[in-house]
Amino acid sequence: MYIDKDCINRFPSLWMETSTEADVSVPLDSDATAEIAIIGEGFTGLCCAISLAEARRDVVLVDGGGPGWGGSGRNSGAVIRGFKMGRTALSAKFGDTGDAMFEFGARNADMLYSLVERFGIDCQLRKTGWVLPAHNNAGMKIVQERYSTWLKDGISGVDLLDRQQTAEALGSEAYVGGLIDRACGVLQPFAYARGLARAAKSLGVRVYGKTRVTSKTRMGDRWHLHTPAGRITAKTVVIATDAWTGGLEPRVADRMLSTHSQIVATEPLPARIADTILPNGPCASDSRRILLYWNKTPDNRIVFGTRGKVDGPTSDIDFSHVEKAMTDIYPALQGAAITHRWGGKIGLTRDFMPRILQPEPDLWTAHGYSGRGVAMGTAFGLLLGEAIAAGNSIDTLPVPVGPAPDLPPKITHRAGIVATTIWYRLLDRWM
Ligand SMILES: Cc1cc2nc3c(=O)[nH]c(=O)nc-3n(C[C@H](O)[C@H](O)[C@H](O)COP(=O)(O)OP(=O)(O)OC[C@H]3O[C@@H](n4cnc5c(N)ncnc54)[C@H](O)[C@@H]3O)c2cc1C
Repeated sequence: MYIDKDCINRFPSLWMETSTEADVSVPLDSDATAEIAIIGEGFTGLCCAISLAEARRDVVLVDGGGPGWGGSGRNSGAVIRGFKMGRTALSAKFGDTGDAMFEFGARNADMLYSLVERFGIDCQLRKTGWVLPAHNNAGMKIVQERYSTWLKDGISGVDLLDRQQTAEALGSEAYVGGLIDRACGVLQPFAYARGLARAAKSLGVRVYGKTRVTSKTRMGDRWHLHTPAGRITAKTVVIATDAWTGGLEPRVADRMLSTHSQIVATEPLPARIADTILPNGPCASDSRRILLYWNKTPDNRIVFGTRGKVDGPTSDIDFSHVEKAMTDIYPALQGAAITHRWGGKIGLTRDFMPRILQPEPDLWTAHGYSGRGVAMGTAFGLLLGEAIAAGNSIDTLPVPVGPAPDLPPKITHRAGIVATTIWYRLLDRWM
């Protein structure tokens, strides 16, 4: 079973240890019936459940782990707004809906902030911005292009930073310049997921954890979700399993690549070091193709991540490249104890754009955030819930809909990811 084999068992995250939001899920212990059953208690499934419950729908949530067991509880917590593409690029790719998509994406962080406030979620949310530093002149060109695109697109709260300003924002001389988006933020992701589950439960959603769906079948106008503990029967099913979808829904899994991203966390640092790193508390992720990302926790730990092994870490040595990248940027962290190492799967689509898909009537899925699912998973989940409750057609949604672009044959995926990662890391050294 996928839970038993996952790297999180050997490498528990800092977030699991420090969440002040409790787990409200209970294992399923008998058959259950609902109007809508959602598989997956990450941001997508949880937010979908909240918006359905607010529309007075009868909802069951089920997860093989529990709230935040997947990517949602393991990420670095960076709340980055928007799609990766600007307004013009979205319109060129998606036609008439491009404009509405851009506006929807630009609001995704606000949707998250509003949920945290409305339900009093204790997840250390800091609206301290996101710095995108340029690792070299080629990276700076990309950063400048992105800045100009955003200005043209009418996005406010973004400033270009010169070398000195970037060094001051990061507390590191390693970058040639960058930008800051002040509308972004950072949070404790596992606590956010658990808080969402608490909110869903308070609205009447039944939240089942430690209950894996082994298969789904359709009989007439009802879906049956089979689990070792009983059968869940529902009219509508939402699959919110992202990178862990596997055989549950090949129409999703076959169009996603997955690889692990890995994170380390230092011990709480003494103030004389901590105060020099990210002094104003933004999160950061840089312009590399294989990007480095990091932030500082309220108790002065540095949480630092980058791409890891395709199949996940198996020993501490698998994190040495993460630790080296961190001390290259912050030499003052040489010798700081690493207290936590962990990893999780990222679900990538070929165009790095997420999708909402309706493979058949009364079956929905949202997935493929390609490393940017904290704000976007929240927004997609809410949107999907609203659409199901209102009976809206998928074609009216202001997001990419339908199957993600085709991928090369599955047998080539693993080798392709390994080769591309090596090649991109080489390119990142020179350009
Ligand atoms: C290490 C790491 C760092 C990241 N950093 C960031 C970041 O800083 N900012 C950002 O925006 N994004 C980041 N991401 C991406 C982000 O975390 C994901 O895009 C997002 O959490 C996906 O949410 P989700 O709800 O769609 O899926 P998930 O949170 O992955 O949830 C899927 C759930 O489905 C459940 N499931 C799967 N199969 C079954 C089954 N058969 N039966 C029952 N349950 C099942 C799993 O147990 C899991 O809990 C990161 C991801 C990782 C792994």
